[in-house]
Amino acid sequence: MSTVDKLKNELCYKPKHASNVIDASEVMKADEFCEGYKKFLDNAKTEREATAIICEEAIKRGYVEFEPDKKYEAGQKVYFVNRGKAIILAVIGKKSLTEGVKIAAAHIDSPRLDLKPNPLYESDELALFKTHYYGGIKKYQWVAIPLAIHGVVIKADGTKVTVKIGEDEGEPKFVISDILPHLGAEQGKRTLSEGISGEELNVIVGSRPFKNDEGSELVKLNILNILYEKYGIKEADFLSAELEVVPAFKADDIGFDRGLIGSYGHDDRVCAYPAAMAAFDIENPDYTVLTVLTDKEETGSDGNTGLQSSYLKYFIFDLAKANGIEGYRVLSKSECLSADVNSAYDPTFNSVFEKNNTSYLNKGVVITKYTGARGKGGTSDASAEYMGKIRKMLDEDGVVWQIGELGKVDAGGGGTVAKYIANLDIDVVDLGVPVLSMHAPYEVVSKLDVYMAYRAFYKFFKQ
Ligand code: MN
Ligand code: MN
Repeated sequence: MSTVDKLKNELCYKPKHASNVIDASEVMKADEFCEGYKKFLDNAKTEREATAIICEEAIKRGYVEFEPDKKYEAGQKVYFVNRGKAIILAVIGKKSLTEGVKIAAAHIDSPRLDLKPNPLYESDELALFKTHYYGGIKKYQWVAIPLAIHGVVIKADGTKVTVKIGEDEGEPKFVISDILPHLGAEQGKRTLSEGISGEELNVIVGSRPFKNDEGSELVKLNILNILYEKYGIKEADFLSAELEVVPAFKADDIGFDRGLIGSYGHDDRVCAYPAAMAAFDIENPDYTVLTVLTDKEETGSDGNTGLQSSYLKYFIFDLAKANGIEGYRVLSKSECLSADVNSAYDPTFNSVFEKNNTSYLNKGVVITKYTGARGKGGTSDASAEYMGKIRKMLDEDGVVWQIGELGKVDAGGGGTVAKYIANLDIDVVDLGVPVLSMHAPYEVVSKLDVYMAYRAFYKFFKQ
C-alpha cells in the first residue's frame, strides 16, 4: 500500500458496500433472515395484523401478558397490546430499573387508503368505495394497481368482524381507475400532485345488478347483499369500521442477483420486524429491553395508539412502581433507537440528495442524527455523546452502518417518533433501513441492510 493509500485508509471516512465488509456466510444469513421478513410483509399489511402476528409469535416464545401490578424477575418476558394496534415486548434485565431501559421503537402503520365512514355508492352502474388517504402518499401511484381490503367492522350488536380480501389466490381484488392516455389531454395539464385528487381515489367494488330488473342502485344493493351473506354486515355497520385499502402485491426479490426486496409497507415493517426478532432472540439481558411497535406514525403519532400518547410512559411507570421506583427516574436513564427508515439515494432522481450525507442501499443500517425540516424544525437532534456511544457500539460489533439525512436541506423534510421519545427525557437517535421509493405502493430495500438492522438492535439489547 502506498503512503497516500495508507493515509487515506487511516484518515478518510467512506462508507462501504456491506458485501465488501462481511463474508459470504453472513450474506447467506442475511438472505435467510429476509425470507422470514418477506412472509411477515405478506401477512402483516396493517397495524392490527402486525400486532396480532408479533403477539402470537411472542406467546410461542414464552412471553406472557403484562400485569401492571406484578413485580417481574430478571429473564421474564412480557407483552402489552394497546387496543389491538400497537404492542410492547419487554424482557426484564438483571440490572435495576434505576439504570434505565433500552428501547427500540418502530411503527407498524403504513401509508394507505382508508374507507370513509359511509363509503359505498353507485354511479352509472358501478359500485364504488369512497376513500380518505392515510399518511403521505403520491396519489397518482394508487390508481390502476391491484388492491386489497383489510380491517374490522363492529356490527350494531357490538360483535367484531375481521375483513381481509384480495390477498389469497382466487380472491377478487379491487382497483381505482385512471383516465386513458388517449383522453388524458386535460389531466396532463394538472401538476403531478394534482394528477389524481383525493376525491378521485374511488375503489371499484362491483358492476352487476342484484336482479335484471329496472330499479335504482341495484349494483350497490347487490354488493350489500354479498357483504351481508359473507360477513353479516349492513351498510350502517361501515360507520363503526376501520377498513384499509392496501396494495395486493406480495413481497418479491428484486434484481437478477436478488439483493433487494420490493414490497408494500417496508416503512416501517423493515425496522419493526428486525427489532421484534432481536427481542425474540435476546436472553437474560443486563438492562431491561423494550421493543415498541407503534401505530399512527404516518399521521403524526397523534391518537391513543401513537407515540404522542402516554402508553409507553405508563408501561414503564408500571414496571417502575412494582419495583418501588419513581417512573421518571427510569425514563431519564433510558436509551432508545428510534427504528425508522430513511430515503435511499436514487441515481435516477439524484438531484434531491446531497451525496455526502445521504444513505445508500447496501451500505448498512442508517443512523439519522436528526430529522425535521428547514432549520432543523420539529426534530430531536441526537447529542454528539449519544451518537458517539451508538457508533462505538456498532463498530465494536462489526455492524455495517452509514449516516444519512433525508435529502437536500431545502428539498423538504420529515419526522419520526424520535422527538416524542426524546420529550420523555430519553436519549434517542434514529436508526433504520434505507428505502427506495418510500411511501410508494411498492417500496424497495436491501437484504443486507435489513439484516444489519437486526444485528444493530440485537447488539443494542445485548450491551
Ligand atoms: Mn417511517
Ligand atoms: Mn413514513
